[in-house]
Amino acid sequence: MIHIDHDLCDLCGTCVGVCPVDCISMSDTTLDIDDDTCIQCNFCIQVCPMEALKEETND
Ligand code: SF4
Ligand code: SF4
Repeated sequence: MIHIDHDLCDLCGTCVGVCPVDCISMSDTTLDIDDDTCIQCNFCIQVCPMEALKEETND
């Protein structure tokens, strides 16, 4: 799953635009990723200018 560092994220919306399954939602105050819909393509990690997104393993 994708981990969001909310301290780094400035809600620019770039990741929302590249997600192929539209599972990133953004409000005025926070960003949220629907882990059940996410296909782990990591596009959002690659485009984030703040490096606020990281791949998280479950171990
Ligand atoms: S890894 Fe891919 S599917 Fe998952 S939230 Fe990021 S862009 Fe969307
Ligand atoms: S691209 Fe990065 S900084 Fe921009 S909204 Fe997404 S997580 Fe936040």
